[in-house]
Amino acid sequence: MLKGAFVENSAKIALITGASKGIGAKIALTLARDGFDIWLNYRSDDKAASEVKTQVEAVGRACSLLKFDVADATQTTKVLQPLIDGGNIPFAVINNAGFRKDNLLVWLTSEEWKSVIDVNLDGFFNVVKAVLPYMLKRRSGRIINIASASAHIGVGGQTNYSAAKAGLVGATRALAAEVAKRNILVNAISPGFIETDILDGLPLQEIIKNIPLGRLGKTEDIAEMASFLCSDKAAYITGQAIQINGGIC
Ligand code: NAP
Repeated sequence: MLKGAFVENSAKIALITGASKGIGAKIALTLARDGFDIWLNYRSDDKAASEVKTQVEAVGRACSLLKFDVADATQTTKVLQPLIDGGNIPFAVINNAGFRKDNLLVWLTSEEWKSVIDVNLDGFFNVVKAVLPYMLKRRSGRIINIASASAHIGVGGQTNYSAAKAGLVGATRALAAEVAKRNILVNAISPGFIETDILDGLPLQEIIKNIPLGRLGKTEDIAEMASFLCSDKAAYITGQAIQINGGIC
């Protein structure tokens, strides 16, 4: 039984996971600029999340901080369910929370394999499971999954991350087919190398030599695509994985 009684005429809500910093924070600020109220999920960095909240509020939108680990289904439901039962159903869900733990497969531990799959792939499942029944009932919504270039090309040392992100792209296509009739559009964005903390420790000067546009991407390069995919302009786009990577192929 679905309890959510929909609140009409309120601002649309965008739930963005992993939005205390990096790409997720920029998506939160960009969607706030577009008129969305923000549900800002993060895992640990209270200070960074509060700073993003202040910036969202500065453009006149509401921002709720939702601290939970997307890999933990129980925690995810515990935080989201009361909000949804209160009648607030996000129009857009951006599954962005992610991290990498690189190692060559021959040395990769089970923990390194599992933890990366848990956050990058199970995190999508846990969050979407909580919200989708209500989106289906409302017959509208957007789901955007932040995958990676590693879903499409082989990057040594990232079998765990590539498997998770390629799984996310597959799930995007399958879910898009399942929910299209209810006017819910599901797409993935696959970033290349974007300037955020996640690149710490990588040989960036070497990497840049192999990017045709000759530079790293910026968080706004990804956030503006998320903004477009959440807009009416993208009403006929679903089941796609859009690569934004400076020309890497
Ligand atoms: P980032 O700067 O390291 O930020 C990661 C964010 O995810 C933080 O807000 C972090 O929260 C949150 N997070 C991590 N694990 C979480 C969990 N279990 N539950 C909830 N939140 C969690 O990373 P980013 O570069 O912005 O990456 C964002 C997404 O883009 C990821 O999915 C990443 O795989 C993907 N991506 C990034 C690049 C790139 O070059 N930057 C390229 C391809 C794909 P706390 O810090 O508060 O713990």
